[in-house]
Amino acid sequence: MNKEIFLCSICNINSGTCLEDCKFCSQSVRYKADIDRYKQKDIDLIKQEAINARNNGALGFCLVTADKGLNDKTLKFVCNVAKEVQEVAPELRLIACNGTASLEQLLTLKEAGIKAYNHNLETSESFYKEICTTHPWSERYETCQNVNKSGLTLITGGIFGLGETQEDRVSMLESLASLNPTSVPINFYHHNEALELEPNPLEIEEAFSLIELTRKLIPNADRIMVAGGRELMFGERQSEIFEHGANSIVIGNYLTTSGRAMNKDLDMLQSLKLEVAKKV
Ligand code: SF4
Repeated sequence: MNKEIFLCSICNINSGTCLEDCKFCSQSVRYKADIDRYKQKDIDLIKQEAINARNNGALGFCLVTADKGLNDKTLKFVCNVAKEVQEVAPELRLIACNGTASLEQLLTLKEAGIKAYNHNLETSESFYKEICTTHPWSERYETCQNVNKSGLTLITGGIFGLGETQEDRVSMLESLASLNPTSVPINFYHHNEALELEPNPLEIEEAFSLIELTRKLIPNADRIMVAGGRELMFGERQSEIFEHGANSIVIGNYLTTSGRAMNKDLDMLQSLKLEVAKKV
């Protein structure tokens, strides 16, 4: 079992404004989910969240926007936030998660101090059409290739429990492996009643085995992260995710759902005698 666990915190610097139709996503304006929606989070609030994440052991701090991809305005905003956060919490490793991105845009983010870019494949190429009709899977894959070209660290993963088959899961993991990511965030679908998708049908043992499968099919990844849906999927047994191959988690809140208090995760790691990673 990994002895060192990497903690990451995510910050939705823009929320709930996406025009795309990904069926699992409450940030799409189409589904009218009852969530906070805003164009730009207040910079002081973002800085406070960064300091709080750093003080609770987070190494990564991810600046997330809810849009299909970057445009000039969003790029400028993310770069500005990156600079401001570095001033108050220089220890944090900044990650951007802003959808589809060109090589040029990624180089601009890098210049602003972003170290890694997260863009998930979400599911297999063939199943993707069932969950999103407004953009193709290939655009996701291409953005990940651009990340590799840019020299930023690639973080890419997906989401389980959307109604995909085991074949789809293997196919997604093989596609992820072909991109050689450093970190692989896996999410477990957290149903929102506004979404038409059926609730996540996975059983807990199946979910544990999917962490193992991810580790097995992407052996070169430094980190397998259990991200969204951890509390809901694993409940009281979430400490067992580390035995199954995870060595990274998201602490604090997710994009549109609450996580548990950060100190509870730190207590969990301590009771398991696991160290919080201090550097990548
Ligand atoms: S593109 Fe991203 S933010 Fe937009 S609906 Fe799809 S998953 Fe949600």
